[in-house]
Amino acid sequence: MNEAQTATAVNCTRCRQPVEKPIYRTIIDQAWDPVRRKKYVRSQSLPFCSEEHYSHEQMSREG
Ligand SMILES: [Zn+2]
Repeated sequence: MNEAQTATAVNCTRCRQPVEKPIYRTIIDQAWDPVRRKKYVRSQSLPFCSEEHYSHEQMSREG
């Protein structure tokens, strides 16, 4: 009798848990550009379950 929960499931970028009302925050990290063969700064808008997980994720990518 369960409702299907796959409709518009969004997972937190940090903990991978499904989030009913995700908050979107910009994560800035470095990525490799295979065309120009060098690193570049990338910013992505990603879903999180909380501000806490957003800050954890940003910190983990700055290392
Ligand atoms: Zn989370």
